[in-house]
Amino acid sequence: MTIILDGKKLRDKIFKDLKAKLDKMNKKPTLAVIIAGDNPASKIYVNNKKKTAENLGINSFVTEYPSNVTEEELLSKIKELNSDKNITAILVQLPLPSHINKSKILNSISPEKDVDGLTTYNSGKLFSGEKPFVYPCTPKGILLLLDEYGIELEGKHAVVIGRSSLVGKPVAQMLLNRNATVTICHSKTKNLADITKTADILISAVGKNIVGEKYIKNNCVVIDVGIFRDEFGKLRGDVDFDGVSKHASYISPVPGGVGPMTIASLMINTLELFDNANKDC
Ligand code: NAP
Repeated sequence: MTIILDGKKLRDKIFKDLKAKLDKMNKKPTLAVIIAGDNPASKIYVNNKKKTAENLGINSFVTEYPSNVTEEELLSKIKELNSDKNITAILVQLPLPSHINKSKILNSISPEKDVDGLTTYNSGKLFSGEKPFVYPCTPKGILLLLDEYGIELEGKHAVVIGRSSLVGKPVAQMLLNRNATVTICHSKTKNLADITKTADILISAVGKNIVGEKYIKNNCVVIDVGIFRDEFGKLRGDVDFDGVSKHASYISPVPGGVGPMTIASLMINTLELFDNANKDC
């Protein structure tokens, strides 16, 4: 029998615990979000983040910029947020308009306020096996989901499809840090199915319907990170859920799998940064 990795259920459990903790706190964390441009999906994500934070009792505000914003304007805003003691977490919603140097903007965030864990400081810590201030949200959510279902990582062959700095590379490194044997695949990988068929744990973070039942071995654990709309406007993941779930031991659905875990991790990270900022008080 295939077990569904239920991200919504775990998210709700995490939110309940966070809310109980936040209800007891006099001083609350503040999450500052910056969004630039008019990407409709980004606007929905940012609104969700703000609403979720507020429902839990986290202060949150959003600063919006038009798509012709300059790097200087963004850098100046981040500088202001970095030096504001009341702001404990900063998030820059991606993607940024194409004329903006993403890495320059992300790296201007103080590492101890970098709630997405995407600055070179925090990713450098992760890749050198040290503890960053926080781990990137989607990879962290994936590991929380695997742990919740008691899925052993040590010694397992994990195959990650996708090598972005947001998902593929950090999740591969986090699995490696947990003693999995990790293979990373990408658009130039040859004979993808031959590699994915050797996976005990398969994580697909591509954004295309790519993983069919011929791509997995029996009893494999399948995590579907991808999310996109097909030609009929239907929300889809990378994995052919019906075909693959006939063979997988565990599978995460889209929606309802990794998506809710990403936002849960963002809220956990916001609290962790706040606790860190106040640990000596
Ligand atoms: P990305 O930066 O576009 O990276 C996609 C990766 O897929 C790249 O490494 C690319 O390889 C690889 N790829 C593309 N076509 C491929 C193919 N035919 N075979 C093998 N690999 C292929 O995307 P991302 O930011 O990592 O996000 C990936 C997906 O996850 C997207 O659908 C995104 O919306 C979704 N996502 C979901 C959440 C969530 O919370 N649920 C969070 C973040 C992202 P190259 O490097 O060679 O180009």
